[in-house]
Parts: sequence; C-alpha cells; structure tokens
Amino acid sequence: MKIPVLGIDFDALTMAEAAEAAEAMLSAGQGGTIVTANPEILLRCRSDAAYAAAVNGADLVFPDGIGCVYASRILGTPLPERVTGADLTPLLLKTLSERGGSVFLYGARPGVAERAAFNLRRRYPGLRIAGTENGYISREDGLLRRLEETRPDLLLLGLGAPKQELWMDAHRHSLRCVMIGVGGLLDVFAGDVQRAPEVWRKAGLEWLYRLTRQPRRFTRMVRLPGILLLAAAERLGAKKRPPKGPGSASG
Ligand code: UDP
Repeated sequence: MKIPVLGIDFDALTMAEAAEAAEAMLSAGQGGTIVTANPEILLRCRSDAAYAAAVNGADLVFPDGIGCVYASRILGTPLPERVTGADLTPLLLKTLSERGGSVFLYGARPGVAERAAFNLRRRYPGLRIAGTENGYISREDGLLRRLEETRPDLLLLGLGAPKQELWMDAHRHSLRCVMIGVGGLLDVFAGDVQRAPEVWRKAGLEWLYRLTRQPRRFTRMVRLPGILLLAAAERLGAKKRPPKGPGSASG
C-alpha cells in the first residue's frame, strides 16, 4: 500500500517487510529501483516536479528519516517506521553473500568505493564485488559498459540526492540490476564516517548525531522541521474543506 506524504508516495512497510520486498526483487532478477527519501528529498520534490516524478517512479519508496514518519502521523496516515538505506542495504548484502550474489559500488570520492569494497568483502565473505567507480566521473560510457558486462545483482548508488535518484530513473529500463540510492553510505562502509550509535538511532536522533559530527549539515537541516509544519497545515486545510459528496457542487 502506498501512503502519500506531502507529495511522495511511500510504501507503508516495516523494515522487515521492506527487506522482504527488496529481496524478492533481487530474486526476480528483473532489476528495480529503491529510493529511501529523507525530509530533504521530500522538500526538494515539492519545488522540482521532474525530481518528484523520478522519486515517485521508483518501484519502492521508503521513509529515510524520522521527520517523514512524524509528518505521516500528523497527516493521520501513519507510516509504520523509518526504513533507512543504511539499515536496509546491509540486509541485502547479507542475502547476496548467502547466495553468492554480486554488488557494484558507484559513488563517493575517488578511492572510497574501493576501500568500502575491501571492507564489505571481509564482512560478507560470499559477496562478489562486481566493480567500483567514484561518483565524480565526467563520462559514464565506460561505467555503463562495465555494468552491462559484469551484470551485478545490486548497484549501490552513493551519489547523494538528487543525483542518485535521477540517475536511477534515467537507467531503470536499460539496466537489469536492482538499484538503491545510498547517499553517504559508501563513506560509512569505507570507515571514513561513523553511523550514530544504536541508542541515538532508536531515539530517532540520528540526524542530531550526524549534525554533531558534520556541522556543515546545519544549513541543510534547519529547513527540515518545516515539513512538520507543512504536514500540520495540510491536515488543518483538509479538515476545513467540506467533504466532497454527491450533493457538493464540485462533485
Ligand atoms: N557524491 C558523489 N558525486 C557527486 C556528489 C556527491 O559521489 O557528484 C557523494 C559524496 O562524495 C558522498 C555522497 O555522495 O559520498 C553524499 O553524501 P551525503 O552525506 O551528502 O548524503 P546523505 O547520506 O545525506 O544522503
């Protein structure tokens, strides 16, 4: 079931159900796209229709941020829980490692994807690394050729938003791998950036932890409480509007 939250149609699944749905996609071998949308992505979609179409065009769309879940609650159509790329991706890698499947890592600064691949090989012994590429290449023909040759089961796109969602949307019909946009997760896999400790994550405070570690995020984050206000405004607006019925003028 899809639940619309301020313009994004989210899949209303728990983390376990999301992993099951993504694993079914991997098993089917027909490719597919997964977006985990945080409040920043949600805000961007509101002012960029082409980007919103790319996000909503993904096969699976999950709320990557407690703000999206709170907004859904304010709207009266609650999403079950946060499903982050950082939590979902390791589950998919574990599944692939058990099946001897392969992953391609595309994104982040030069050298990061290679170091991430090195660590992932150790953490998931059965996992095959189909290839790596940094996220700042100027021409993509070589990359696309390698993806066609190596045919990975999963492609991790660590290009940040909006680049990774637009890239997935542009290539979803030509590539047969499952693709997921993972933001800065390749930096985490490489060991360059730490995720918040579990106690912060469970408290819904991962954003605050990241802010303490990467203060440059402040200017991006100050706008985020805005989505809660937008949700409240939409809810109030909906309450004020008379319900549409057979007798209403607009039909
Ligand atoms: N990035 C990239 N190519 C670009 C712009 C960004 O590969 O043209 C990478 C960047 O190096 C970083 C990731 O995309 O690894 C974005 O990380 P950020 O923490 O901003 O994303 P978030 O996790 O917040 O989605």
